[in-house]
Amino acid sequence: MAERTPLMAGNWKMNLDHHQATHLVQKLAWTLKDAKHDYSSVEVAVLVPFTDLRSVQTLVDADKYEIKYGAQDVSAHTEGAYTGEISPVMLAKLGVSYVAVGHSERREYHGEDDALCAAKVASAFGQGIVPILCVGEGLDVRKAGEQVSYTLAQLDGALSGLPAEQAAQIVIAYEPVWAIGTGEVATPDDAQEVCKAIRDRLAELYSRDLADGVRVLYGGSVKSGNVAAIMAQPDVDGALVGGASLDAEEFAKIVRFR
Ligand code: PEP
Repeated sequence: MAERTPLMAGNWKMNLDHHQATHLVQKLAWTLKDAKHDYSSVEVAVLVPFTDLRSVQTLVDADKYEIKYGAQDVSAHTEGAYTGEISPVMLAKLGVSYVAVGHSERREYHGEDDALCAAKVASAFGQGIVPILCVGEGLDVRKAGEQVSYTLAQLDGALSGLPAEQAAQIVIAYEPVWAIGTGEVATPDDAQEVCKAIRDRLAELYSRDLADGVRVLYGGSVKSGNVAAIMAQPDVDGALVGGASLDAEEFAKIVRFR
């Protein structure tokens, strides 16, 4: 089976101005340095508000931090009359490594559907940015026991037309909506069930080899106290962490889950 380097990605959501952003990244870098963190064994990223990107880039470049950074959304277009949107070209210019696509909060509050997610995935890859594609069911779907089929339908929609060279690099985040920001974490078995189904679907759509190389993250109320059990699952390759990523020491503990 392919070696997959775990990825711990913090999603700051709409929190922290650019002063607070540099402070948090600095504190995270120092905490991880004190703990002698080996970034080649667990990759670390923060997905920050657009307005923080330039400051985070300057800090990371100046101090040669190994923390990667990214955005929380991207336009499906590269330029033009799209008021309020941010182009992948602009993000690439700021040294962005990752961008979240289809986060449940974008789907719920901004009506993003799978076709738009597919366009955003293509637009990110077009500029060399790796999308972290978020999928996952709401509580009603979970109660009906349809979490696997629902999540795989989202995956199929967002991967539609994606060439294998790009699919091989994508990161998928399984985020059950009922576990996001609620303190209600999925059990390790719940996470494993859907993450494995995602990998198996990638194998059907592309190949087993490709699927074995793709990182599938879990997201939903991950904390230092529950991360180890989730990471012990064979098909979970990291976490997308919201609230707990706003505290440098807590996020550093999550990064160092072993
Ligand atoms: C998220 O924002 O993607 C998330 C998982 O949030 P939280 O960790 O706060 O549940």
